[in-house]
Amino acid sequence: MAMRPQKPQRPAKSANDTPMMRQYMSIKDQYPEAVVMYRMGDFYEMFFEDAIVAAEALDLTLTSRNKNAPDPIPMCGIPHHASVGYVSRLIEQGFKVAICEQMEDPSKVKGLVKREVVRVITPGVILDEENLDSKTNNYLAAVLPLTDDDGDNRLYALSCMDASTNEFKGTEVLGSGALTGEIFRLEPRELLVAESLEAEFAKLKTVLPSCFISAIEDSHFDAVKAVENLTEVIGETDTAELFAESALLGRAAGAVISYIRATRPKDGLPRTKFTRYSITDHMVIDEATKSHLELVQTGDGQKKGSLLWLLDETQTPMGARMLRQWINYPLFDTVAIRRRLARVELFFDDATFRGDTATFLDSIADIERIAARIGMNAASPRDIGVLRNSLLALPDLDDLLTSCPAPDSADVLGGALDRAEDLSAALVAALVDEPPVSRSDAGIFKPGYNTALDDLVETVSSAKDFIASLEARERQRTGIGSLKVSYNKVFGYFILITKSNLKNVPQDYIRKQTLVNGERFITPELEEWEAKVLTADDKRKSLEKELFEELIANLQQHIPRILAISARIAALDCAAALATVARKYNYAMPRINDKGIIDIQDGRHPLVETMFSTVPFVPNDVRLDVDGERLMVITGPNMAGKSTVMRQVALITIMAQMGSYVPAEAADISLTDRLFTRVGASDNIAKGASTFMVEMNETSTILRSATRDSLVILDEVGRGTSTFDGLSIAWSVGEYLHDAVKCKTMFATHYHELVELANIKPHAANYHVAAREYGEEVVFLRKLVAGGTSHSFGIQVAKMAGLPELVVQRARDILTSLEQEEPKTPTGKVPQKAKQAPQLDLFARPKPSEVERIIKEIDINRITPLDALSLLTRLKDMIS
Ligand code: ATP
Repeated sequence: MAMRPQKPQRPAKSANDTPMMRQYMSIKDQYPEAVVMYRMGDFYEMFFEDAIVAAEALDLTLTSRNKNAPDPIPMCGIPHHASVGYVSRLIEQGFKVAICEQMEDPSKVKGLVKREVVRVITPGVILDEENLDSKTNNYLAAVLPLTDDDGDNRLYALSCMDASTNEFKGTEVLGSGALTGEIFRLEPRELLVAESLEAEFAKLKTVLPSCFISAIEDSHFDAVKAVENLTEVIGETDTAELFAESALLGRAAGAVISYIRATRPKDGLPRTKFTRYSITDHMVIDEATKSHLELVQTGDGQKKGSLLWLLDETQTPMGARMLRQWINYPLFDTVAIRRRLARVELFFDDATFRGDTATFLDSIADIERIAARIGMNAASPRDIGVLRNSLLALPDLDDLLTSCPAPDSADVLGGALDRAEDLSAALVAALVDEPPVSRSDAGIFKPGYNTALDDLVETVSSAKDFIASLEARERQRTGIGSLKVSYNKVFGYFILITKSNLKNVPQDYIRKQTLVNGERFITPELEEWEAKVLTADDKRKSLEKELFEELIANLQQHIPRILAISARIAALDCAAALATVARKYNYAMPRINDKGIIDIQDGRHPLVETMFSTVPFVPNDVRLDVDGERLMVITGPNMAGKSTVMRQVALITIMAQMGSYVPAEAADISLTDRLFTRVGASDNIAKGASTFMVEMNETSTILRSATRDSLVILDEVGRGTSTFDGLSIAWSVGEYLHDAVKCKTMFATHYHELVELANIKPHAANYHVAAREYGEEVVFLRKLVAGGTSHSFGIQVAKMAGLPELVVQRARDILTSLEQEEPKTPTGKVPQKAKQAPQLDLFARPKPSEVERIIKEIDINRITPLDALSLLTRLKDMIS
């Protein structure tokens, strides 16, 4: 993360100790953590350490204020109209930015202009559309542990708010592992932790590189303060209820609001609802599984290639964000899944209906984020124009939905859509077709909306007309045909006379400026009319601003309604998108069962089949049954397709539970509570753990958390250590899942000895992914078939990968020699270690050792203490 700006060092009393610098210092003192952008006319200036870090982060030239002073102040600046881009670059690098505005018109005050910080932008609190990814939520989260207990028994409260959508929620989780998993799937942009606990949470940075961790004063988590803040946002009753259920969660939620409040010192807080959820309301997917399956991004951080990328055919930003949530939080409720599936089916079955819906949805903008900006009093006139246009599309969309001919369509689609005609009509009457971006610009409202405004507009335009007519009259009066009345921002209105006509200028003209080709003049009459224009124009702007604030205050009453419409639109959008994908790739509607059976016919991997389409994808059947074959041991050569077939089962399960069709001919999916994958061996040096340690950590999470309703995918467990250790671990892990957890498990392995495990366990079965050998070549058939195999084709695969022929040939010789009865080294000798090492025989009962024999023969009741002591010495000698 980028370096945080330091509190500027205040110089000793010097030439720089001006009233303005004193004002700057007092503001900076309040925002030591942020880069303060201090408005000076058309620029935002930064000073001291802020200037040094910002110049580097933004590639700006670092200058200094008062260069000739003995202690010049480092300074850099950006034009105010380009601030959005600069701010977003600072935020991306992890800085916080405090925007300090001039609170008075500098032309109307004498001396120092009043300045105040109007908002602070942090990675987790961004409202401007330009700085947000429209397809992703921007959560600000706060975490608070219960002070006693630690590790697995510790209770944590996690609350978050997306200030850009007003979504506010929280949960409690037990244990640091579950907390990390939940934070990982929530994907907050910024995580708040109490200053005193910063060290404890520092390690989260390695798991969540894109999340900024902000240590804030412990007082933000204070219960009394939390009640006060929450009451303002969710009301007194809900606050009391939340605290009665969990004071810990109430304090975490309070910290979120307290932080947001500090970022908007000039505005109130929005009103919203708090949703308390439990992580088991949905299928639990831990961070390893989410990354391994590349649900929302690939291993190298790209969206392209992820499940989200494949499924995202949404038309609206709300829909895109909801789809991401559906993937991160698959349902764990058969009725709810079926409801989503039924809606997808409607769109799947009717191409015209699907196409028309998509067209209407496409004309609906991000009304959820506009509603949030209305709530925070940060919406621009243009935002409200966009809202109006979106609302105007609702009646047509509603008509389309009600015209859907499918039986029960009204129910399936969620009933009548709020057409919001009253709201859109009010906005149509109020706003011009294309309202300006800034509230201080003129021309927001339509004629007829407000009489006082109409009068002012009339005054301005008639004064302008008068000035325009002045040109003709003055031309006549002076006889100067080329006389022109013009306007510019610096001089206002003036009369321009070219050089050759200067001799004809009348007495009452007052010279203002000399140009190369002529001179600019004003007249008392022109000045008088100019003042009329300017005064009326000023009045008009301030009245429009006032009227706009009134409009926003009115719209604030309608936020719950706009959000409800937005949620309906998002859900329709997701269903239509999933149907589009299902049609495009020929997916089938899954059935959901609660019998513990996963039965997939001709299943495909959704991404492998689309992204590597040069070879046709070979579909596979998979059946897992908690009461039948629940453990599949999958062997097969390298590159055969073991990982692919297992991942496709996991992805199909997630897709089914998120309410999507699945890449298969048919699929019956049992409701899965937790999905685990332990795939491949990935080093995580950054996390301070070896490959093997990461592998064992993940395996231990699975063994401790999986239930009978879980699906476990294990790829190569135990590979990161010596063969005997690895095999022993793989065996006992498989055995434990089969005997104790009893969940559905797919276990791919290169340890062919595990074939034996499946042979002896009643609920286990061997499978392999078939390949054929033709001479020295291997052909992958990609078919999952019953039975184990002991052939790895490792050398053939190495050859295909381009290993030099000499090395390949040598490897073959070594393999032949190793396959002899007695293990030999490549030089042909029997290795010392191999001679001594006991043969691995997992099923033979070991012979008792001499020590064991002696211990067994001891008669405890008769042996004297002295004899016992000497026997113990002998035994100890024997084993050492
Ligand atoms: P290893 O044991 O070396 O890890 P593996 O058996 O797990 O290999 P995969 O990684 O699943 O093999 O598959 C290797 C490649 O084969 C995939 O990248 C994919 O391109 C292709 N492949 C796998 N399954 C299929 C299939 N069913 N149809 C077509 N191509 C497939």
